[in-house]
Amino acid sequence: MRFAAIEGGGTTWVCAVAINDIDNFQEKITIPTTSPIETLQQVRQWLSTVGQIDAIGVASFGPIDANPSSETYGYITSTPKPGWRNTNVLQLIGAYEEFHGVPIMFDTDVNAPALAEFIHSVDTKRTSCAYITVGTGVGVGLVVNGMTVKGLLHPEAGHILMKPMSDDSFVGTCPFHGSCVEGMISNGALATRLGLERHELANVSDDNSVWDFCAFYIAQLCSNLILIASPERIILGGGIMKRRILYEKTRAYVLQILNSYVINPLLTSEFIGDYIVQSQWEDEAGLVGAAYLAKKALQISKER
Ligand code: ZN
Repeated sequence: MRFAAIEGGGTTWVCAVAINDIDNFQEKITIPTTSPIETLQQVRQWLSTVGQIDAIGVASFGPIDANPSSETYGYITSTPKPGWRNTNVLQLIGAYEEFHGVPIMFDTDVNAPALAEFIHSVDTKRTSCAYITVGTGVGVGLVVNGMTVKGLLHPEAGHILMKPMSDDSFVGTCPFHGSCVEGMISNGALATRLGLERHELANVSDDNSVWDFCAFYIAQLCSNLILIASPERIILGGGIMKRRILYEKTRAYVLQILNSYVINPLLTSEFIGDYIVQSQWEDEAGLVGAAYLAKKALQISKER
């Protein structure tokens, strides 16, 4: 089987063909995210040159419309990303023309890896997990009772409001909410805090206090998810989470914020390292999620 995996992010779109397994990639390319037409035309071109494809999975940044019965299915909808509002992604990549008839599934770039992590979990008793990405944006994919959560739209927990850390006067950069999680710690927000360009963040030393702020807000997000949805595992990914010290700091703040209110062995300093974890696919979590969507689309088409 050859699955086309397309991961659409705010900085890059990554495409690859997964051969039989959802993490066995070939033909991988990275396309910078510029305008929708320019970017998605390159995706379309890649699709038309990689040979036979059995199914396509698109895991896109959002908010998106992932409801197949909706008129705007396949669109990126109310994104703050300039130029990308109301973009018909599926149409622009050729899903209704040259790839008409190829099974396709469209979901968020966080729901897809959340589902892939869940399906490939070694603990088969688990029924839930949350996947958080911290990068250009902050996103949360949520699997509850073995399914990704979709309701009015899909969870947009990267935009929940934050209680400021005691010595943090930053007002946040989200054009919708100011000091939501994304407004406080997206890579753009962190760069603004430090007066740097985003690509310079990699050079900031581990002892800079910005990482404490960052971990504190990730921990608030984790704590809120624990209180609302009780996920059995939280997986962290995205460019900012390449900063290894953030894992330990985040875990410590989660325990501090929850303050022993939720009693579970995993929520102890001894075991929280097994609860708040790095993705098993590290940088490729989103792409693996997209490949999983393709696999699922093929399965569904065969059941019809
Ligand atoms: Zn926001």
